Amino acid sequence: MTAADCLFCKIASKTLPAKVVYEDDLLIAIEDINPAAPVHILIIPKEHISSLNELQVNHVALLGQIQLLAARLASQLNIAEPGYRLVNNCGEMGGQTVMHLHYHLLGGRNFGWPPG
Ligand code: AMP
Ligand code: ZN
Repeated sequence: MTAADCLFCKIASKTLPAKVVYEDDLLIAIEDINPAAPVHILIIPKEHISSLNELQVNHVALLGQIQLLAARLASQLNIAEPGYRLVNNCGEMGGQTVMHLHYHLLGGRNFGWPPG
């Protein structure tokens, strides 16, 4: 998969439409097209990174920005309390369907543990 055929690269470059809730130089956050909870936001780095398996040491700051943005969006969307879940699915058995790194910010309902 090259960035040219990648769904989230196309969304990041505005070649494909999405409901954008936040954007800066590094990250874009969009509403999930098939929400699994009342709040379901995808936090996506603009750089094409296929999955957590491809992370390099130079991505450490980017990961920190993702976590900070998740907490800030949770606060703005009124799910900081009572709580929420931040999820990364990695690879086939992890349930990853779009091979461009992204984190799911989920809230507005109870989540079970262990996950399905
Ligand atoms: P994952 O299964 O972890 O790779 O998550 C991919 C997510 O992308 C799923 O929750 C999909 O509903 C979501 N998704 C797929 N296509 C789009 C799209 N065009 N816009 C927004 N979200 C999408
Ligand atoms: Zn991509």
